[in-house]
Amino acid sequence: MKVIIHWFRRDLRLRDNPALAAATRDADEVVPVFVIDPAILARPDCGPNLTAFFFKCVESLAAELEGVGSRLVLLHGDPLVEIPRLVKQIGAAAVYHGRDYEPFAKERDAAMAAIGQREGFVVRSFKDVVVFESREVRKEDGGIYTVFTPYSRRWKKNALPELEKNTPGKGGLAATLQSEKLPDSGWQKDSEKLQWAGFGEAAARALLERFLEKAAAGYADNRNFPGVEGTSRLSPHLRAGTISPRQIIHAVEGWKAKQQSKAAQHSADVFISEIIWRDFYQGILDEFPHVTQRSFRPEYEAVQWPGCEEHFVAWCEGRTGYPIVDAAMRQLVATGWMHNRLRMIVAMFLTKDLHIHWQRGEEFFMRHLADGDCAANNGGWQWSASTGTDAAPYFRIFAPLSQSEKFDPEGEFIRKWVPELANVRGAAVHAPSERAPLEWGKSGYPAPIVDHAKERLVAMELYKVGLGRV
Ligand SMILES: Cc1cc2nc3c(=O)[nH]c(=O)nc-3n(C[C@H](O)[C@H](O)[C@H](O)COP(=O)(O)OP(=O)(O)OC[C@H]3O[C@@H](n4cnc5c(N)ncnc54)[C@H](O)[C@@H]3O)c2cc1C
Repeated sequence: MKVIIHWFRRDLRLRDNPALAAATRDADEVVPVFVIDPAILARPDCGPNLTAFFFKCVESLAAELEGVGSRLVLLHGDPLVEIPRLVKQIGAAAVYHGRDYEPFAKERDAAMAAIGQREGFVVRSFKDVVVFESREVRKEDGGIYTVFTPYSRRWKKNALPELEKNTPGKGGLAATLQSEKLPDSGWQKDSEKLQWAGFGEAAARALLERFLEKAAAGYADNRNFPGVEGTSRLSPHLRAGTISPRQIIHAVEGWKAKQQSKAAQHSADVFISEIIWRDFYQGILDEFPHVTQRSFRPEYEAVQWPGCEEHFVAWCEGRTGYPIVDAAMRQLVATGWMHNRLRMIVAMFLTKDLHIHWQRGEEFFMRHLADGDCAANNGGWQWSASTGTDAAPYFRIFAPLSQSEKFDPEGEFIRKWVPELANVRGAAVHAPSERAPLEWGKSGYPAPIVDHAKERLVAMELYKVGLGRV
């Protein structure tokens, strides 16, 4: 009897799971395994919200597997030790898994493949995290795209991958296999603050359906307004792999085909373009792993970041005196979530107004986001700091006040997350110390810690000097 281990990692679902489907086709029995690796849990980029979201999804996956007559084997330890040990114990012929483009994961997976070769078991990896891998979206001369628009044009020329139909059926485990428990590290408590209706594969599909029903038609208009339910909030599910980007694209294309209005069809295209950005950044990480250590563009390494610790702490704690920045940062810390528009605003503010290195912000985000993803987060930070691929030019600096007025026009989002300002009426809420000094004086809310107009000029000078353009 041929036994194959499916090693679940960031693919916590049964449907459209290429590695799992292949294992189901190739084996008489598939043994589904998840390894709780203490080294990953101890990493600074594996924060409590991400862990809580993941473990809730592992629980759901275990229940889904029970539902098809299988059982998730939970192991605890270093996968490079635990998986080969399990292979021996059950006489497995192979280990299948989805590919992951983070440098540490690539190193680990190469080590697993080497162990397999040495010990006589097959290790096969499959595309999973993306719709198209970087090698599938190449220039005519084989070159790698580093600019989004031509990348996206080329991406769209590919035929969409079919969805995998195979899911593991009956069959399963040798009765002697022991499954460990998820560690009791407080993640159940942490999961209570996450504001998602549910976890796991069924919840991800329900969220996608809700998005298509309620928000997709207006996505192009509403996606920039944090106070509106204008986006899908699928990112933590995509991070944990409870839904695949291919499932999302197929569903959105299907939805688009039924729409009569041009505006709704356009919204579908804008949404798909965001999923393409996601593939783009995964490809950048895969091809240019140095981005985790330094700027994508080497010339930006000379830019100086003279910002102070006091300002960094004020940014982290939502006490900068810029209400839109503070509301966003408080929401992040309280819930593990921040809207895309706000991520851009606070990242620009940290790098261009406070002159603090983007890596400090990148780390802070990873510690707090439930969707913390090395590729998208690094891409977003390097975009905001102007150091990345196809990034915002360094001289195009968001003004926090006009961003606030434009994207939270009624100030509802601000008042929700900065309750000190609840009584500041009208547009004064965007700049309370200036526009409503009396109410502001009583509110206990800080004055702006910097003057944007001045810091903008300082930032331009710092970039110019660093780039030798003076
Ligand atoms: C500084 C910064 C840091 C970020 N860090 C992360 C991160 O750690 N993890 C993460 O998933 N996204 C990150 N993003 C991208 C984006 O903010 C989130 O993907 C988005 O807010 C998720 O909300 P949603 O699912 O409602 O998005 P929707 O608008 O519904 O978009 C659908 C999906 O498209 C993808 N997507 C959307 N925008 C982007 C983008 N700009 N780049 C890459 N993929 C995108 C996401 O997977 C998202 O779930 C970051 C952006 C910035 C500017």
